[in-house]
Amino acid sequence: MKKHTKIIATISDKKCDVGFLTQLFEEGMNVVRLNTAHQTHDDALKVIKNVRKVSDRIALLVDTKGPEIRTVDVEKEIDLKKGDRIKMQGKGGPECTDVCLRVSYEEFVKDIEVGKKVLIDDGELELLVIDKGVDFLIVEAQNDGVVKNRKSVNVPGVSINLPSLTQKDIEFIQFAIEQDIDFIAHSFVRHKADVLQIQGLLDKQNSAIKIIAKIENQEGVDNIEEILDHVYGVMVARGDLAIEIPAQKLPVIQRKIIRKCIERKKPVIIATQMLHSMINNPRPTRAEVSDIANAIYNRTDAIMLSGETAYGEYPVEAVRTMKEVAIEVEKELFPDTRKNFVRVNQELPIILARSAVKASQSLPVKAIITDTLTGRTGRYLSAYRGTSPVYALCYSKRVMRELALSYGVEAEYRKLLASRDEYVKQSMYSLMEKNYFTSEDLVIIIGGSFGPSKGVSFMEISRVDQLTHKV
Ligand code: PEP
Repeated sequence: MKKHTKIIATISDKKCDVGFLTQLFEEGMNVVRLNTAHQTHDDALKVIKNVRKVSDRIALLVDTKGPEIRTVDVEKEIDLKKGDRIKMQGKGGPECTDVCLRVSYEEFVKDIEVGKKVLIDDGELELLVIDKGVDFLIVEAQNDGVVKNRKSVNVPGVSINLPSLTQKDIEFIQFAIEQDIDFIAHSFVRHKADVLQIQGLLDKQNSAIKIIAKIENQEGVDNIEEILDHVYGVMVARGDLAIEIPAQKLPVIQRKIIRKCIERKKPVIIATQMLHSMINNPRPTRAEVSDIANAIYNRTDAIMLSGETAYGEYPVEAVRTMKEVAIEVEKELFPDTRKNFVRVNQELPIILARSAVKASQSLPVKAIITDTLTGRTGRYLSAYRGTSPVYALCYSKRVMRELALSYGVEAEYRKLLASRDEYVKQSMYSLMEKNYFTSEDLVIIIGGSFGPSKGVSFMEISRVDQLTHKV
């Protein structure tokens, strides 16, 4: 049985051999993520080449470093005890010492007020700003902790004026364009300007790469509507989000963002620590299984693995666990065709997609089949979260891979033929060869009477043999 929920696996150059990637693909991995914060172009290229040797159906996602603050090199580790006070400054001076903690962002002091929290090393050490001078802060440790080299620095609820793109990001975006990557997931998207800047770089070179906004702080959450206007999809990056925002707020934010993305018909990914314990253990915790299930009950498109597949000891088991949980939970889910999704205009593909999913609820329909030039009809069908699989016939391999992020859509690449009926017939035979359905099964077709470039215009509900005997 196939799952509807898509799986993204983070892959490192340290473990990316073809045999390993093939195993993950066969277990249900749909997208490979490259975390460029930890990679060079050569490292990334090694992964890309091997992924492409496994299958042209696996989409590639480049995740940027984004605007982040880190501690600068420490003279020696700074051991702080609860109540200790220390000076903090932006970079420009010497390295960290036990009397002054420096961070990589020059304007750090300017942006931060007394009373704010500064979290070091993914929140391991909490510092409270108790005083501020012209070019320094005085912070007080709220718990015992150690400051080491290049550890993350988060300042919850503070709008940091760092530019959205670092030089490394710009170079990786150029690399992604040259390597014909499918998605760029940009870190710490705060507002639409952050993604427009990337879109500008892509447009200059006519790149079709799609942008995924990683939502990982309060500003990103607050500006989700305007961000959604300008991106292909969204990732709820719970690692940083849980540091920037109190962790108890996360489940509610996750659910709201998923709902918003479905409403806007844009793919949504839930990321981070879904199977964290499987980095070292062959079996997941009960809480992890429930977390995956919850994301699927929330109706996410995709779920993501990070360290579990990048450097964990049980990567294949982690993908298999996700697949097995997805299959179980999906059995309990029903389509959501209440939404009309129509905003201003009655858009025909939306009406057809909704009607098809609705019809598949009332009839014993084995599959919904559509041909899609840009992937739009596939995404619309996906947004109704039907129970019948959607087979999207794509005229380009890029569009096929883009649909690797959409719930319930199995995309196939098929060259356009002069005769539409012949195209349908050949597609049906190809899908039957894969045992997706038999000639006696009932299927729904959404297609265009006037060719793919004119968009979809009809829906047909038919037995497969009636369709294949048409020509
Ligand atoms: C996250 O913070 O959850 C995330 C996915 O981003 P990164 O792995 O780049 O920290």
